[in-house]
Formats: sequence, C-alpha cells, structure tokens
Amino acid sequence: MSVKAKKHLGQHFLRDENIAKKIADSLSLNNYSKVLEIGPGMGVLTKYLLEKDVETYVIEIDTESVDYLKSHYLNLAPRIIEKDFLKYNLNDVFNNESFAIIGNFPYNISSQILFKTLEIRDQIPEFSGMFQKEVAKRICEKEGSKTYGILSVLTQAFYEAEYLFTVPPSVFNPPPKVDSGVLKLTRKENYTLPCDEALFFKVVKTSFQQRRKTLRNSLKTFNLSDNLKANSIFGQRPEQLSVSEFIELTQLIENDVN
Ligand code: SAH
Repeated sequence: MSVKAKKHLGQHFLRDENIAKKIADSLSLNNYSKVLEIGPGMGVLTKYLLEKDVETYVIEIDTESVDYLKSHYLNLAPRIIEKDFLKYNLNDVFNNESFAIIGNFPYNISSQILFKTLEIRDQIPEFSGMFQKEVAKRICEKEGSKTYGILSVLTQAFYEAEYLFTVPPSVFNPPPKVDSGVLKLTRKENYTLPCDEALFFKVVKTSFQQRRKTLRNSLKTFNLSDNLKANSIFGQRPEQLSVSEFIELTQLIENDVN
C-alpha cells in the first residue's frame, strides 16, 4: 500500500529515482555527521541518504507517511520525528550539533522552511532542496533583477546559493502545476555579519516591502537624520543593492546620530 497524496500537506511524490539520487548526492557531507530530511513522504530520497556515511533523521507531519516509513525502513524508525518542522524545537534531537537539511519540500511552506533555517544557521552548514522553480531561482538571484528580494538577500548574506537543476511536473504523483527547481546552499566560512544582524533583517525586510520606492522613502520609520538621508545610497531602490551594500546600509543606520 502506498500513501494517498494529501493536497493540504503539499504532497507531490517524486517518482524519478535518478532525480532523487541526484538531490541526495548534492550534499558534500563535509564537516557534519547528521542530516535532517524534511517531509520524506514514502522515502524516495531517504533511501539514498541511508546508503551514505551520515546519520539520517527525518521529520514528517503525516501519520500515514510515518507508518509507511516505519514498515519499509526498519533501521530508520528511531530517527523518525513525527512533527511539524516549523513548530518543532530541533534541539530536542540535535542538542546544538551541526546537521545538513535536505528535502523535496512542501511548496506551501517552503519559504518558511528557509526562514527557519536562516534562524538556526549556526547549526546548518549545508542545505539542499527542491522548491517551486520560481522560488528556487529567486533565492539564488543577484541584485539588479526583478525577482531579487528578501529571500535572496537574507540567504546570500550567510550562504553561497547555487541553482542546480529544473524538474518538470511529469515526474511527480500527482504532478504539481508548476516546474520545480533544486538548489544548494553552502554556508560561508565567515558568516557573522559586520553589523547588527537583527537590524540587518529589519532593514532588508522593510526596504523590500515597498520595492519600487527609494530607500529614503521606504525606511522613513527608522527616523534617520537628514545628514544620513543625503547619502546617495538612499536614492536607490532595494533591488539595486548587493548583499554587501545592505550590510553597509545597516552599518550607516546603526551609527546614525539623530
Ligand atoms: N520527499 C517526498 C515527499 C514530498 S511531498 C518525495 O519526494 O516524494 C512533501 C512532504 O512534506 C509530504 O510528505 C508532507 O506530508 C510533508 N510535510 C508537509 N508539511 C510538513 C511540515 N510542516 N513538517 C514536516 N513535514 C511536512
């Protein structure tokens, strides 16, 4: 018996073994010994992870999928976490250790999966996963592009982002309406920002909330001094700023005396 796909859980099961293997093989397995797969479903990707020299954990919200995994992958059973990834405190299992994240993600929560990963970046040296293609592209996009946004800047501040390949709807059951894309994130060697990191998140998010406006307009709520607002960087729109320019902007705001 296989699991019946449930729409509200974003279930689209991958049928193509080569693609599953390619995703599993995208992890380097350097400098960590554990990997967490989010949303394993019936384990198409999990089985390739289990062949590797790494301790594989999975987190799955769907009881029917969990039952399937328990009966088909006996060795995995003690490392199945039957929880909602977005709500679960991963340190109950990982005790502040490092681990990689991987998955063919449920697309309805894929951005939130990435945001949670960024929050716990100290523990996540590597991340590979399948998103809706547009989202995967956007995460890897550079400044100057229309699709460059919050996800691109926040991710690339801490990780090298690489778009790996596109996957058509036909290889899933049931097929989704959109193309999918696989990406890989590798944490930068020095990923501590030379600015107030909480302020950096706030500046990036606020700037892109009104992406067509200049920063002078969209950052009004920061109560910046006239002197600072005269700086030419404030005449730009957020999509023109590189990650390092957002860091500089944050430093300027941090040091502003009003
Ligand atoms: N990796 C499998 C399944 C992909 S479908 C494959 O490639 O075939 C997405 C999976 O994520 C489903 O199994 C779904 O039950 C699971 N899922 C959805 N929301 C989740 C959440 N909040 N936490 C953990 N798993 C979730």
